[in-house]
Amino acid sequence: MTLYAFPPHAQPTVPVEGSDAVFPVRRVLCVGRNYAAHAREMGADTRDPPFFFAKPADAIAPLKAEVPYPPATSDLHHEIELVVALKDGGANLSVEAALACVFGYGVGVDLTRRDLQGAAKAKGQPWEAGKAFDDSAPISALRATEAPAAEAAITLSVNGEVRQSGRIGDMIWNVGEVIAKASELWTLAAGDLIFTGTPEGVGPIVRGDRVAGEVEGVGRLEFTLV
Ligand code: MN
Repeated sequence: MTLYAFPPHAQPTVPVEGSDAVFPVRRVLCVGRNYAAHAREMGADTRDPPFFFAKPADAIAPLKAEVPYPPATSDLHHEIELVVALKDGGANLSVEAALACVFGYGVGVDLTRRDLQGAAKAKGQPWEAGKAFDDSAPISALRATEAPAAEAAITLSVNGEVRQSGRIGDMIWNVGEVIAKASELWTLAAGDLIFTGTPEGVGPIVRGDRVAGEVEGVGRLEFTLV
């Protein structure tokens, strides 16, 4: 039996719809610039392919009604995203093998300290301070379902006003391609979550804002920034 120097922290988990079993999170990967219109609004060259970054597993905030406004920013942005959850993994997966690894889907928000991300970009520094902070990944319960259809809507509203509205089919890399590409860089495994990128319309949110996100056929989440 392992003797820990202090009690290990609890395993981060995400609820699963219709089940008492929860999904144990291993890693959280995120795709950057996977919707062309969002890449354009960020001033990026849309000929560049999407790319990956990561958040720590304990950055997830599942089903939290209240999400704390993070420190050290005055420009916190919302990014609504389809999240794919894996029940299996591997390296260098084909798209077909990648899709066989899917446990289910959820709705997530990739909260971003845009001011810190922008400062890091300008200096060629890493993005963690902008992306990988505490409670930076609010997420719905996971649903064991097929991949949402290309025409499925992905939307986010703030205080009832629609800010982001896209279609899953607008993704540059589809779900199978996202997983397959990730598996070229990391050996994926059960418990991995992948945030698949956000459509255009990202923008600032402030304390007291009510944020609601939905992916048609997958679910919705709602939280207040406090
Ligand atoms: Mn994002």
